[in-house]
Amino acid sequence: MERLNGEDVSDFSIARRRMVEQQIIARGIDDTRVIEAMKKIPRHLFVEPGLQSHAYSDSSLPIGEKQTISQPYMVASMTAALNLRGHERILEIGTGSGYQTAILASLVKRVYSIERISLLASRARKVLDQLSLSNVNIRLGDGTLGWKEQAPFDGILVAAGSPDIPTHYLDQLEIGGKLVLPVGDREQQVLIRVIRREDGQFEQQQLMGCRFVPLIGELGWQNDIDA
Ligand code: SAH
Repeated sequence: MERLNGEDVSDFSIARRRMVEQQIIARGIDDTRVIEAMKKIPRHLFVEPGLQSHAYSDSSLPIGEKQTISQPYMVASMTAALNLRGHERILEIGTGSGYQTAILASLVKRVYSIERISLLASRARKVLDQLSLSNVNIRLGDGTLGWKEQAPFDGILVAAGSPDIPTHYLDQLEIGGKLVLPVGDREQQVLIRVIRREDGQFEQQQLMGCRFVPLIGELGWQNDIDA
């Protein structure tokens, strides 16, 4: 074990605590359960070995296959926007590295996550298993269609930018459920939250500007040629 002032630094605990203080709490995230999850989940395990020293920096990072692990603040903001209490069943689109999946899994009852790239899905599965996060089902395929067999969901979190809101997500949302997704063009999006109200209406809010890799599929972008 590597120690600095009596603290174990071999597991990046100092970098992780600093990340939570400076990037999450200082920017106004006040959901204590989300803060605890971000303190606990070892983000460095979800990046390539050569990038581990950057795992807690204030940015997204490449994870191969032209995809990225989202910036810590974006992961925290999207998670907080779902107002999770612990009993929820959540659909996640774009497993990627599995980091957002791990944060969700530590906060809710079950996570259903869809990834279109097989290599990323299998890598994510391995890290989640290593962390004994067993309440996650990962499926390989086009997430723009949602996951009909497991619907309705208390929350749907989409980690890739979409040209508009795929209708299946609205159909697969529980009454009172929340959908968080980036909508815009390929370069820039706005993070949107949609709440399915009891009267059947959908209430839509804009949360912040963001930049995600494209959501590619039947109800998203057609291809990733210039992604
Ligand atoms: N939250 C992830 C973000 C990964 S980037 C992380 O922090 O690691 C977005 C992911 O969405 C990529 O892995 C990409 O392959 C995936 N993706 C894009 N379109 C998709 C689709 N239609 N269905 C499922 N996954 C998709």
